[in-house]
Amino acid sequence: MIDPWGSTTLDYEKLIEQFGIKPFADFIGEVESPNHLMTRGIIFGHRDYGRIVKALREKNPFAVVSGMMPSGKMHIGHKMIVDQLIWYQKKGADIYIPIADMESYSARSIDFETSKELAISEYITNYIALGLDLENKNTSTYLQSENKTVGNLAYKLAKKVTFNEMKAIYGFHGSTNIAHLYVPLIQVADILHPQLEGCGGPKPSVVPVGPDQDPHIRLTRDIAERFKSQFKFIPPSSTYHRFITGLTGDKMSSSKPNSAIFLSDSPETAEKKVKSAKTGGKDSLDEQRKYGGIPEVCTVYELLLYHLEPSGKKLTELYESCKNGNIMCGECKKNVAEMMKDFLIHFSKKRENSKKTAQKILEREPKC
Ligand code: SF4
Repeated sequence: MIDPWGSTTLDYEKLIEQFGIKPFADFIGEVESPNHLMTRGIIFGHRDYGRIVKALREKNPFAVVSGMMPSGKMHIGHKMIVDQLIWYQKKGADIYIPIADMESYSARSIDFETSKELAISEYITNYIALGLDLENKNTSTYLQSENKTVGNLAYKLAKKVTFNEMKAIYGFHGSTNIAHLYVPLIQVADILHPQLEGCGGPKPSVVPVGPDQDPHIRLTRDIAERFKSQFKFIPPSSTYHRFITGLTGDKMSSSKPNSAIFLSDSPETAEKKVKSAKTGGKDSLDEQRKYGGIPEVCTVYELLLYHLEPSGKKLTELYESCKNGNIMCGECKKNVAEMMKDFLIHFSKKRENSKKTAQKILEREPKC
Protein backbone atom coordinates (compact mmCIF):
# COMPACT_ATOMS: atom_id res chain seq x y z
CA MET A 1 0.00 0.00 0.00
CA ILE A 2 1.29 3.49 -0.83
CA ASP A 3 0.57 6.04 1.89
CA PRO A 4 0.04 9.53 0.44
CA TRP A 5 0.49 11.10 3.91
CA GLY A 6 3.56 9.05 4.84
CA SER A 7 7.17 9.20 3.75
CA THR A 8 7.85 5.84 2.19
CA THR A 9 10.87 5.44 -0.04
CA LEU A 10 9.61 4.36 -3.42
CA ASP A 11 10.95 1.87 -5.90
CA TYR A 12 10.01 3.42 -9.23
CA GLU A 13 10.50 0.25 -11.28
CA LYS A 14 8.27 -1.70 -8.92
CA LEU A 15 5.54 0.91 -9.22
CA ILE A 16 5.54 0.53 -12.95
CA GLU A 17 5.22 -3.25 -12.59
CA GLN A 18 2.81 -3.49 -9.65
CA PHE A 19 0.36 -0.67 -10.20
CA GLY A 20 0.13 -0.56 -13.97
CA ILE A 21 1.86 2.81 -14.36
CA LYS A 22 3.24 2.94 -17.91
CA PRO A 23 6.73 4.23 -18.84
CA PHE A 24 6.61 7.86 -19.95
CA ALA A 25 9.46 7.21 -22.38
CA ASP A 26 6.85 5.61 -24.72
CA PHE A 27 5.52 9.09 -25.50
CA ILE A 28 8.64 11.17 -25.58
CA GLY A 29 8.87 11.24 -29.39
CA GLU A 30 5.25 12.28 -29.71
CA VAL A 31 5.29 15.35 -27.50
CA GLU A 32 6.19 18.59 -29.23
CA SER A 33 9.03 20.52 -27.50
CA PRO A 34 8.95 18.35 -24.38
CA ASN A 35 9.86 19.74 -20.99
CA HIS A 36 13.38 18.93 -19.68
CA LEU A 37 11.78 16.87 -16.91
CA MET A 38 10.33 14.65 -19.62
CA THR A 39 13.48 14.31 -21.72
CA ARG A 40 15.70 13.66 -18.69
CA GLY A 41 13.53 10.81 -17.39
CA ILE A 42 12.46 12.66 -14.23
CA ILE A 43 8.85 12.26 -15.34
CA PHE A 44 9.06 8.50 -15.57
CA GLY A 45 5.50 7.20 -15.74
CA HIS A 46 1.93 7.94 -16.77
CA ARG A 47 -1.59 6.70 -16.97
CA ASP A 48 -3.49 7.39 -20.19
CA TYR A 49 -1.20 10.23 -21.29
CA GLY A 50 -2.15 9.41 -24.89
CA ARG A 51 -5.29 11.52 -24.44
CA ILE A 52 -3.17 14.52 -23.54
CA VAL A 53 -0.77 13.94 -26.42
CA LYS A 54 -3.78 13.89 -28.75
CA ALA A 55 -5.26 17.06 -27.23
CA LEU A 56 -1.88 18.80 -27.53
CA ARG A 57 -1.47 17.69 -31.13
CA GLU A 58 -4.99 18.65 -32.20
CA LYS A 59 -5.02 21.80 -30.05
CA ASN A 60 -8.15 20.62 -28.24
CA PRO A 61 -9.07 21.86 -24.76
CA PHE A 62 -7.66 19.95 -21.81
CA ALA A 63 -7.20 20.66 -18.14
CA VAL A 64 -4.31 20.27 -15.72
CA VAL A 65 -5.05 19.94 -12.03
CA SER A 66 -2.29 20.31 -9.48
CA GLY A 67 -3.00 20.97 -5.83
CA MET A 68 -0.74 22.62 -3.31
CA MET A 69 -0.87 21.74 0.36
CA PRO A 70 0.27 24.64 2.49
CA SER A 71 2.10 22.89 5.31
CA GLY A 72 5.63 24.30 5.34
CA LYS A 73 8.26 26.14 3.35
CA MET A 74 8.71 25.34 -0.34
CA HIS A 75 12.03 23.78 -1.29
CA ILE A 76 13.77 23.41 -4.62
CA GLY A 77 12.17 19.96 -5.13
CA HIS A 78 8.74 21.61 -5.25
CA LYS A 79 9.87 23.79 -8.16
CA MET A 80 9.46 20.75 -10.41
CA ILE A 81 5.68 20.89 -10.28
CA VAL A 82 5.65 24.60 -11.11
CA ASP A 83 7.96 23.97 -14.09
CA GLN A 84 5.42 21.48 -15.40
CA LEU A 85 2.52 23.89 -14.91
CA ILE A 86 4.40 26.64 -16.77
CA TRP A 87 4.97 24.24 -19.65
CA TYR A 88 1.27 23.30 -19.79
CA GLN A 89 0.19 26.92 -19.49
CA LYS A 90 2.30 27.79 -22.53
CA LYS A 91 0.61 24.92 -24.37
CA GLY A 92 -2.81 26.54 -23.73
CA ALA A 93 -4.16 24.21 -21.02
CA ASP A 94 -6.78 25.24 -18.47
CA ILE A 95 -4.92 25.13 -15.18
CA TYR A 96 -6.62 24.42 -11.85
CA ILE A 97 -4.70 24.87 -8.61
CA PRO A 98 -6.68 23.80 -5.57
CA ILE A 99 -5.16 24.88 -2.27
CA ALA A 100 -5.66 21.87 -0.03
CA ASP A 101 -6.59 23.74 3.14
CA MET A 102 -9.14 21.04 4.04
CA GLU A 103 -6.44 18.38 3.80
CA SER A 104 -4.04 20.53 5.85
CA TYR A 105 -6.74 20.83 8.49
CA SER A 106 -7.69 17.16 8.66
CA ALA A 107 -4.30 15.50 8.10
CA ARG A 108 -1.89 18.10 9.55
CA SER A 109 -4.07 20.00 12.05
CA ILE A 110 -3.35 23.37 10.42
CA ASP A 111 -6.27 25.79 10.82
CA PHE A 112 -7.88 27.40 7.77
CA GLU A 113 -6.62 30.94 8.41
CA THR A 114 -3.01 29.77 8.77
CA SER A 115 -3.32 27.71 5.58
CA LYS A 116 -4.58 30.69 3.64
CA GLU A 117 -1.79 32.97 4.90
CA LEU A 118 0.86 30.34 4.16
CA ALA A 119 -0.60 29.69 0.71
CA ILE A 120 -0.36 33.39 -0.17
CA SER A 121 2.95 34.32 1.45
CA GLU A 122 4.83 31.18 0.44
CA TYR A 123 3.25 29.07 -2.29
CA ILE A 124 1.39 31.59 -4.46
CA THR A 125 4.27 34.08 -4.17
CA ASN A 126 6.79 31.43 -5.24
CA TYR A 127 4.61 30.11 -8.07
CA ILE A 128 4.41 33.61 -9.54
CA ALA A 129 8.12 34.30 -8.97
CA LEU A 130 9.00 31.04 -10.73
CA GLY A 131 7.11 32.25 -13.80
CA LEU A 132 3.57 30.85 -13.59
CA ASP A 133 0.94 33.41 -14.63
CA LEU A 134 -1.74 33.03 -11.96
CA GLU A 135 -3.69 35.97 -13.40
CA ASN A 136 -4.14 34.14 -16.70
CA LYS A 137 -7.85 33.83 -17.59
CA ASN A 138 -7.48 30.07 -18.06
CA THR A 139 -5.87 29.55 -14.66
CA SER A 140 -7.87 29.11 -11.50
CA THR A 141 -6.40 29.08 -7.98
CA TYR A 142 -8.84 28.47 -5.14
CA LEU A 143 -9.16 27.33 -1.54
CA GLN A 144 -10.88 23.94 -1.30
CA SER A 145 -12.90 25.13 1.67
CA GLU A 146 -14.36 28.03 -0.32
CA ASN A 147 -15.19 26.32 -3.61
CA LYS A 148 -18.87 25.39 -3.52
CA THR A 149 -18.80 23.56 -6.87
CA VAL A 150 -16.06 21.26 -5.58
CA GLY A 151 -17.75 20.77 -2.18
CA ASN A 152 -21.10 19.86 -3.76
CA LEU A 153 -19.52 17.51 -6.27
CA ALA A 154 -17.51 15.74 -3.53
CA TYR A 155 -20.71 15.08 -1.62
CA LYS A 156 -22.46 13.65 -4.67
CA LEU A 157 -19.47 11.44 -5.53
CA ALA A 158 -19.22 10.16 -1.93
CA LYS A 159 -22.55 8.38 -2.47
CA LYS A 160 -20.80 5.67 -4.50
CA VAL A 161 -17.79 5.15 -2.21
CA THR A 162 -17.87 2.91 0.84
CA PHE A 163 -15.92 2.98 4.09
CA ASN A 164 -14.47 -0.44 3.31
CA GLU A 165 -13.09 0.87 0.04
CA MET A 166 -11.43 3.85 1.77
CA LYS A 167 -10.00 1.48 4.36
CA ALA A 168 -8.51 -0.73 1.67
CA ILE A 169 -7.00 2.18 -0.29
CA TYR A 170 -5.71 4.38 2.53
CA GLY A 171 -5.49 2.06 5.52
CA PHE A 172 -8.04 4.14 7.44
CA HIS A 173 -9.23 2.55 10.68
CA GLY A 174 -11.82 2.94 13.41
CA SER A 175 -10.08 5.94 14.99
CA THR A 176 -9.48 7.90 11.75
CA ASN A 177 -11.33 11.18 12.08
CA ILE A 178 -14.22 11.69 9.68
CA ALA A 179 -12.71 14.88 8.21
CA HIS A 180 -9.60 12.93 7.16
CA LEU A 181 -11.79 10.16 5.81
CA TYR A 182 -13.75 12.61 3.68
CA VAL A 183 -10.88 14.72 2.34
CA PRO A 184 -9.85 12.31 -0.47
CA LEU A 185 -13.34 12.86 -1.90
CA ILE A 186 -12.66 16.59 -2.01
CA GLN A 187 -9.49 15.84 -3.97
CA VAL A 188 -11.42 13.61 -6.35
CA ALA A 189 -13.84 16.50 -6.90
CA ASP A 190 -10.91 18.91 -7.40
CA ILE A 191 -9.71 16.68 -10.21
CA LEU A 192 -13.08 16.00 -11.84
CA HIS A 193 -14.87 19.35 -11.51
CA PRO A 194 -13.17 20.92 -14.60
CA GLN A 195 -15.28 18.43 -16.59
CA LEU A 196 -18.64 19.63 -15.26
CA GLU A 197 -20.92 21.37 -17.75
CA GLY A 198 -20.44 24.70 -15.94
CA CYS A 199 -16.66 24.36 -16.42
CA GLY A 200 -16.75 23.64 -20.14
CA GLY A 201 -17.88 20.00 -20.02
CA PRO A 202 -16.02 16.69 -20.33
CA LYS A 203 -12.46 16.97 -21.57
CA PRO A 204 -9.14 15.19 -21.11
CA SER A 205 -7.33 16.20 -17.95
CA VAL A 206 -3.98 15.40 -16.42
CA VAL A 207 -2.67 15.43 -12.88
CA PRO A 208 1.13 15.64 -12.58
CA VAL A 209 2.08 14.01 -9.26
CA GLY A 210 4.71 12.18 -7.31
CA PRO A 211 4.02 8.43 -7.20
CA ASP A 212 3.01 8.67 -3.53
CA GLN A 213 -0.19 10.36 -4.73
CA ASP A 214 -1.20 7.46 -6.94
CA PRO A 215 -3.90 6.16 -4.54
CA HIS A 216 -5.82 9.40 -5.12
CA ILE A 217 -5.44 9.01 -8.87
CA ARG A 218 -6.69 5.42 -8.86
CA LEU A 219 -9.66 6.34 -6.69
CA THR A 220 -10.50 9.29 -8.95
CA ARG A 221 -10.33 7.20 -12.10
CA ASP A 222 -12.59 4.55 -10.55
CA ILE A 223 -15.13 7.13 -9.42
CA ALA A 224 -15.06 8.83 -12.84
CA GLU A 225 -16.14 5.48 -14.33
CA ARG A 226 -18.91 5.04 -11.75
CA PHE A 227 -20.38 8.45 -12.65
CA LYS A 228 -19.79 8.20 -16.37
CA SER A 229 -23.47 8.03 -17.33
CA GLN A 230 -24.35 10.99 -15.11
CA PHE A 231 -21.46 13.39 -15.85
CA LYS A 232 -19.76 11.84 -18.91
CA PHE A 233 -16.42 12.11 -17.12
CA ILE A 234 -13.30 11.08 -19.00
CA PRO A 235 -11.03 9.30 -16.47
CA PRO A 236 -8.16 11.70 -15.73
CA SER A 237 -4.67 10.99 -17.01
CA SER A 238 -1.65 11.34 -14.72
CA THR A 239 2.11 11.65 -14.89
CA TYR A 240 4.59 10.60 -12.21
CA HIS A 241 7.88 12.27 -11.39
CA ARG A 242 10.84 11.08 -9.38
CA PHE A 243 11.65 12.97 -6.19
CA ILE A 244 14.90 14.88 -6.00
CA THR A 245 17.22 13.37 -3.39
CA GLY A 246 17.93 15.47 -0.29
CA LEU A 247 21.40 16.99 0.04
CA THR A 248 22.07 14.60 2.91
CA GLY A 249 21.38 11.58 0.69
CA ASP A 250 17.87 10.74 1.91
CA LYS A 251 14.54 12.37 1.05
CA MET A 252 14.49 16.15 0.56
CA SER A 253 12.08 17.34 3.21
CA SER A 254 10.89 20.68 4.58
CA SER A 255 11.17 19.22 8.07
CA LYS A 256 14.91 18.50 7.62
CA PRO A 257 16.48 21.89 6.80
CA ASN A 258 19.91 20.47 5.91
CA SER A 259 18.41 18.12 3.33
CA ALA A 260 16.75 20.93 1.39
CA ILE A 261 17.41 24.20 -0.32
CA PHE A 262 14.42 26.38 0.43
CA LEU A 263 13.26 28.91 -2.12
CA SER A 264 13.44 31.43 0.73
CA ASP A 265 17.03 30.51 1.71
CA SER A 266 19.54 33.32 1.37
CA PRO A 267 21.95 32.82 -1.54
CA GLU A 268 24.81 32.40 0.95
CA THR A 269 22.98 29.73 2.97
CA ALA A 270 22.19 27.81 -0.21
CA GLU A 271 25.80 28.07 -1.34
CA LYS A 272 26.98 26.56 1.96
CA LYS A 273 24.43 23.76 1.74
CA VAL A 274 25.59 22.78 -1.76
CA LYS A 275 29.21 22.81 -0.65
CA SER A 276 28.47 20.32 2.12
CA ALA A 277 26.11 18.13 0.06
CA LYS A 278 26.63 14.39 -0.38
CA THR A 279 28.33 13.55 -3.66
CA GLY A 280 29.12 10.42 -5.62
CA GLY A 281 32.86 11.12 -5.30
CA LYS A 282 35.58 8.73 -4.14
CA ASP A 283 37.38 8.84 -0.78
CA SER A 284 40.62 10.24 -2.21
CA LEU A 285 41.57 12.42 -5.17
CA ASP A 286 43.83 9.67 -6.49
CA GLU A 287 40.99 7.17 -6.51
CA GLN A 288 38.66 9.65 -8.15
CA ARG A 289 41.17 10.43 -10.90
CA LYS A 290 41.61 6.70 -11.45
CA TYR A 291 38.05 5.41 -11.20
CA GLY A 292 35.90 8.54 -11.67
CA GLY A 293 32.85 9.60 -9.65
CA ILE A 294 29.28 8.29 -9.69
CA PRO A 295 26.96 11.08 -10.86
CA GLU A 296 23.95 8.71 -10.57
CA VAL A 297 24.16 8.89 -6.78
CA CYS A 298 25.37 12.47 -6.50
CA THR A 299 22.97 15.04 -5.02
CA VAL A 300 24.98 17.89 -6.56
CA TYR A 301 24.57 16.40 -10.01
CA GLU A 302 20.83 16.07 -9.34
CA LEU A 303 20.55 19.80 -8.71
CA LEU A 304 21.88 20.35 -12.22
CA LEU A 305 19.75 17.62 -13.72
CA TYR A 306 16.47 18.76 -12.18
CA HIS A 307 16.90 22.50 -12.07
CA LEU A 308 20.12 24.35 -12.71
CA GLU A 309 21.54 23.22 -16.05
CA PRO A 310 19.27 23.99 -19.01
CA SER A 311 21.75 22.69 -21.58
CA GLY A 312 21.57 18.94 -22.21
CA LYS A 313 24.96 19.14 -23.91
CA LYS A 314 26.71 20.69 -20.89
CA LEU A 315 25.06 18.19 -18.60
CA THR A 316 26.33 15.29 -20.68
CA GLU A 317 29.83 16.80 -20.73
CA LEU A 318 29.88 17.07 -16.95
CA TYR A 319 28.55 13.52 -16.63
CA GLU A 320 31.39 12.25 -18.81
CA SER A 321 34.02 14.33 -16.99
CA CYS A 322 32.81 12.98 -13.66
CA LYS A 323 32.77 9.37 -14.86
CA ASN A 324 36.24 9.69 -16.40
CA GLY A 325 37.74 11.28 -13.31
CA ASN A 326 38.52 14.52 -15.13
CA ILE A 327 36.74 16.72 -12.60
CA MET A 328 37.02 16.54 -8.82
CA CYS A 329 34.10 17.06 -6.46
CA GLY A 330 35.58 20.19 -4.86
CA GLU A 331 35.66 22.10 -8.15
CA CYS A 332 32.33 20.70 -9.26
CA LYS A 333 30.57 21.64 -6.02
CA LYS A 334 32.05 25.12 -6.18
CA ASN A 335 30.59 25.62 -9.67
CA VAL A 336 27.17 24.29 -8.72
CA ALA A 337 27.11 26.30 -5.49
CA GLU A 338 27.80 29.41 -7.59
CA MET A 339 24.93 28.54 -9.96
CA MET A 340 22.58 27.98 -7.04
CA LYS A 341 23.65 31.27 -5.49
CA ASP A 342 23.00 33.12 -8.76
CA PHE A 343 19.60 31.48 -9.13
CA LEU A 344 18.59 32.60 -5.63
CA ILE A 345 19.93 36.14 -6.06
CA HIS A 346 17.62 36.59 -9.04
CA PHE A 347 14.81 34.59 -7.51
CA SER A 348 14.71 36.60 -4.26
CA LYS A 349 14.15 39.78 -6.31
CA LYS A 350 11.34 38.08 -8.22
CA ARG A 351 9.82 36.94 -4.93
CA GLU A 352 9.76 40.52 -3.65
CA ASN A 353 8.11 41.69 -6.88
CA SER A 354 5.49 38.91 -6.72
CA LYS A 355 4.20 39.63 -3.23
CA LYS A 356 1.66 42.26 -4.24
CA THR A 357 0.12 40.15 -7.02
CA ALA A 358 0.04 37.11 -4.69
CA GLN A 359 -2.24 39.01 -2.28
CA LYS A 360 -4.85 39.41 -5.03
CA ILE A 361 -4.95 35.90 -6.49
CA LEU A 362 -7.47 34.41 -4.07
CA GLU A 363 -9.80 37.40 -4.55
CA ARG A 364 -10.39 36.29 -8.16
CA GLU A 365 -13.55 34.31 -8.87
CA PRO A 366 -12.66 30.64 -9.46
CA LYS A 367 -13.20 29.64 -13.09
CA CYS A 368 -16.09 27.44 -11.96
FE1 SF4 B 1 29.08 14.71 -8.19
FE2 SF4 B 1 30.51 16.49 -9.48
FE3 SF4 B 1 31.66 14.85 -7.71
FE4 SF4 B 1 30.80 13.92 -10.02
S1 SF4 B 1 32.43 15.40 -9.74
S2 SF4 B 1 30.46 12.97 -8.04
S3 SF4 B 1 28.97 15.17 -10.38
S4 SF4 B 1 30.15 16.44 -7.29
